Formats: sequence, structure tokens, C-alpha cells
Amino acid sequence: VAVAASSSSPAVTTAEAGEVPATMKAWAYDEYGDGGVLKFNDAAAVPAVGEEQVLVRVAAAALNPVDAKRRAGKFKATDSPLPTVPGYDVAGVVVKTGSQVKGLKEGDEVYGNISEKALEGPKQSGSLAEYTAVEEKLLALKPKGLDFAQAAGLPLAVETAHEGLERAGFSAGKSILILGGAGGVGSLAIQLAKHVYGASKVAATASTPKLELLKTLGADVAIDYTKENFEELPDKYDIVFDAVGQGEKAVKVVKEGGSVVVLTGAVAPPGFRFVVTSDGSVLEKLNPYLESGKVKPLVDPKGPFAFSQVVEAFSYLETGRATGKVVISPI
Ligand code: NDP
Repeated sequence: VAVAASSSSPAVTTAEAGEVPATMKAWAYDEYGDGGVLKFNDAAAVPAVGEEQVLVRVAAAALNPVDAKRRAGKFKATDSPLPTVPGYDVAGVVVKTGSQVKGLKEGDEVYGNISEKALEGPKQSGSLAEYTAVEEKLLALKPKGLDFAQAAGLPLAVETAHEGLERAGFSAGKSILILGGAGGVGSLAIQLAKHVYGASKVAATASTPKLELLKTLGADVAIDYTKENFEELPDKYDIVFDAVGQGEKAVKVVKEGGSVVVLTGAVAPPGFRFVVTSDGSVLEKLNPYLESGKVKPLVDPKGPFAFSQVVEAFSYLETGRATGKVVISPI
């Protein structure tokens, strides 16, 4: 029987070889800089699949501010080598599994944040590509009822919201102020605090046109930062979650014994900053809430952006005005 196996990988069956080509379309940069460094490559190498990894045929991806900061070279000391295919967030279909993969199989619809540590050696071959290789433990099955574009917007932001609430010791009956409530992380932090943790009171900040949205997400109090300084209001909170970079003001509105968790910028005790760790088990834990609709993905209405519009998507993200997630779909 004549077998048309590729000479470079004779162990691969013809069926698999047909599904996974050697090259793919991807966005990449080979130097740090502004959006102009992003180039479309229609013959990028499909990444190799490690023993504990699966290869995902990417259906949708999402941008995070860390993609822009990384592209600008802000983390170059701990970054993986150039050239870089950017993108942490992915949703897609498993097309190949490494030998040590236990749970996932070909055909599974998955989502996740592909880089365990956002700033320390994030993947060189990211999600803004037709294929990406990811450790099984960083992925979860896509929540039923969500499409790929909705699922792609969740992982890094929801993991950050969850990890921040956990690290701050948030629990049922506590009050919280969320700075930046309309962004990718803030929109999920509001929903988790209210609908998963059982907050007694959720307050959040945004500009005037986004106040109604904060209420829809579950905020009891929506503070218009263009009209009021939250640190001058009488209310104090058990926890302050800062997704803007206002640590100095945030510590002024926390109750004695409470905590202030910040994602960016400086903060003095009792405030602290952390960097998100990707973890598929967090997504699995949250899947029931995502499937029941208690927690909803928020895709920015300017998107989803086409795969050809990645440069535009980055520049929109970098305005700092996105509502929820900047999603790229379909890929
Ligand atoms: P987004 O780009 O999604 O945030 C955009 C939102 O921020 C907009 O809706 C905007 O609302 C709001 N915003 C901007 N300025 C203010 C303000 N002064 N007060 C209230 N809201 C404001 O960002 P993300 O949510 O994805 O990330 C937020 C920050 O956290 C980024 O700096 C990011 O790098 C960082 N981050 C850090 C992580 C970590 O592990 N440490 C993980 C994830 C994110 P409006 O238009 O109304 O101003």
C-alpha cells in the first residue's frame, strides 16, 4: 500500500498530515515597537506540539493590554525571543495531542490563556495565528452556549479577575469597589463579585456612557469618574480592586483590615500587585456560571475584528477605551 507520509515526520498518518499543514497564516513582529511592527505572514511555521500540549486550530483570539505592552518591549528582559506571534487568549478546536495528554482529544472545543506566566517567557508562537500549541492544563472545554468569539475574550481577563478576588480574600457578604469596571477585567470582576462570590455591595467606576452597563453587569453603585472622585466619597470598602492604576487613591477608601489589589502601577501597603497565572482549572470552575449565563462575556461592540484587521484592533485596544474585550474572529 502506498502511504503518502511526509518525509520529515514519517510517524504522522496521512489523515493527520492532511489536517495540519507545515505552515500557517499568522501575525508576527521581529522587532519591538508600535503597531507598525506587526506583519502578516502567510507562511509561518506551525508550532511543534510538546508531550503535554495540544495543537489548537484557532477559531478566535482576543487582545489584552499585555499584548501591546509586550509588543512595545516593556517586558523584553523576561520575554521569549523574537520573532513573536502575539496573543494569549484563544478559543478553537484540538487537532493534535501530545503523548502525555490525558483528558483532551481531537475535536474538543477549548479555550484558554496559552501562556502560564504573562511576563516570564510567554509563548513565542501565540494565538493570532491559525494554530497554536498549548499545555492541556491551561485549557478548558468551551462553555456550552458560547461561541468561539465570546469564549476567546474570557481567559486572561476572567483568570485575572478571579485571582485578584482570591488573593484579596474576597468572600460572600463583603463589599468591593472595582476601578475600571467597563474594561476586560473589570466587567468580569463585577460579575464574579456579585454573582459568584455573593458580594454585599459592588461599586465600580467608569465614564458617563458606561454607567448603565456597570449596573447591568451587577454593580449596585456606578461612579462616574468624570464627575466624582471616588476617594472623596464617604463610602469605604472591604476590598478595592484596581484595574486602572490608581493604587495611591485606592488605599484611601479601604476599610481597616481590608485589602487593595492592583493590576498595574504603584501601590503602598495594604495594597499589593500580582501578575496573573494561567490555569485551566479556574476556567473549568467558572464554566457552570458561564453556561447558566450568570456570568456573561462582554465582547466590545466595535468587534469582533476580522483576522485582517489585527493592526486596527491593537490600535483600538491601545486607546484604553474598549468596552469589555477586543476579539479577533474568525481566524
Ligand atoms: P481594558 O483595555 O479592557 O480597559 C479599558 C477600560 O478601562 C475602558 O472601558 C475604560 O472605561 C476604563 N478606564 C480607563 N480609565 C479609567 C478610569 N480612570 N477610571 C475607570 N475606568 C477607566 O484593560 P483590561 O481590563 O484588560 O486591563 C486593565 C489593566 O490591568 C491594564 O493596565 C492591564 O495591563 C492590566 N492587567 C494586569 C494583569 C496582571 O496580571 N497584573 C492582568 C490583566 C490586566 P472608560 O472608557 O469609561 O474610561
